[in-house]
Amino acid sequence: MKFHSTRDKSRLYSLQEASVMGLAPDGGLFMPEYIPQINMSEVLKLAQYSFADMSSHIASLFFKDSITPLQVDEAIKKALSFEIPLVKAGPYYTLELFHGPTCAFKDVGASSMGQILGTILHNNGEKENKPLIILTATSGDTGSAVARGFYDIPGITVVVLFPNGKVSPLQECQMTALGKNIKALKVNGTFDDCQMLVKAIFNNREIRKQVNVTSANSINLLRWLPQSFYYFYAYAQWIAQEHSHLLKQFMAGEEAELPEVTFVVPSGNYGNISAGMLAKRMGLPVKGFIAAANSNDVFPKYLESGQYEPRPSVQTIANAMDVGAPSNFERIQSLFNNDYEAICREVKGYAYSDSQIKEAILELYRKYGYTSCPHSATGYLATKEYLSECANSGMKADSNSIIWLSTASPAKFSEVIAPVTGQMPHIPGRLQELLDKDKEFTIMDVSTETLEEILRTLGE
Ligand SMILES: *Cc1c(COP(=O)(O)O)cnc(C)c1O
Repeated sequence: MKFHSTRDKSRLYSLQEASVMGLAPDGGLFMPEYIPQINMSEVLKLAQYSFADMSSHIASLFFKDSITPLQVDEAIKKALSFEIPLVKAGPYYTLELFHGPTCAFKDVGASSMGQILGTILHNNGEKENKPLIILTATSGDTGSAVARGFYDIPGITVVVLFPNGKVSPLQECQMTALGKNIKALKVNGTFDDCQMLVKAIFNNREIRKQVNVTSANSINLLRWLPQSFYYFYAYAQWIAQEHSHLLKQFMAGEEAELPEVTFVVPSGNYGNISAGMLAKRMGLPVKGFIAAANSNDVFPKYLESGQYEPRPSVQTIANAMDVGAPSNFERIQSLFNNDYEAICREVKGYAYSDSQIKEAILELYRKYGYTSCPHSATGYLATKEYLSECANSGMKADSNSIIWLSTASPAKFSEVIAPVTGQMPHIPGRLQELLDKDKEFTIMDVSTETLEEILRTLGE
């Protein structure tokens, strides 16, 4: 398996090239050369053991030509040894993606990338004396997950940029309390400024000759691709809970058509949802996808009008989704061969204001005793809006065949949730510990020169 750019399918790259480059030389995003077809009965069987066992099987289809199958297995089992439970909030199914080390769904991609890239560097004998610098911009969650995913991996230094004062205190701790090979930079600007600084470095040939630098934000192939795994795991749990007799029939080799589900995905950079689209193309029975956005509604607007008009992000209480120019839009277009009509048949999009999000948090808490983070709450709103739209237009849709993705633990957003519900969310021990640790960070203005200087100091 090789990889190519969304903008040019003729040139192929190895996994190492694709993951270290981050962006393709033509500015496109990396995609797998072909989409392997999944044997659903194999995947459903493995899912009964664990998420890691199932994921290791799927990962090997993409990575086994790059590192040995045994190494794929070891890396994925190290990276993904946590649960991703499908639970019910009242009558709705939600997939809780936040039981990893930093309590966010980005742990899946970041830990997988850390382990697999670590394995690739190890296989190369870590010949390079210069450290590999992972440069990443974050609006809150990416940075902490990446920092954790690469923490203490030999030969790698992480430089994480985030907008000063625009991430939650706990998120900030998750980036500034690790130390060792993790360097946190607080930028006096917005998330888009941080992303711009990172892009400027990647477009600068001079600095890239001097230091060995790569990205690990959600555009990176090794971050993006493993996110497709949990869609299969969600499906396996769903069919076991909702259609156990069908599952038995299917597993016994009898004729049984697997029913389809709809996924609702809180979206910012559209990495998560586009990985789900990849899963569908691998053969997962999915009816369609619903993107749930906050006020940064570029994608829902695109579905409405056919016009893609990126613009500066606005700040919301679901800040990990504050993205005005979703990078993975190109991957969606590539998966659909730039066919707007085809996208509209399979994908819907809804957007919600901060006050709607707060109402949703309160409603979930009051009605169902379920505490949701502000990002995940947009998924709940979109689930309800889709169901009522279907009901109004006489289409068949059933809350039992919709799964909304919960992307972060409420513990990380207590300053939003507590004033709404009157209750402090429970803080898991692994987060609590960070609050008491010493913090290390550097404050900087939006300046590419400053960033270059910092990279040179770290990278030589
Ligand atoms: C990053 C993030 C999102 C958005 O995911 P994308 O892949 O960027 O669309 C949603 N919720 C949380 C909590 C996140 O950290």
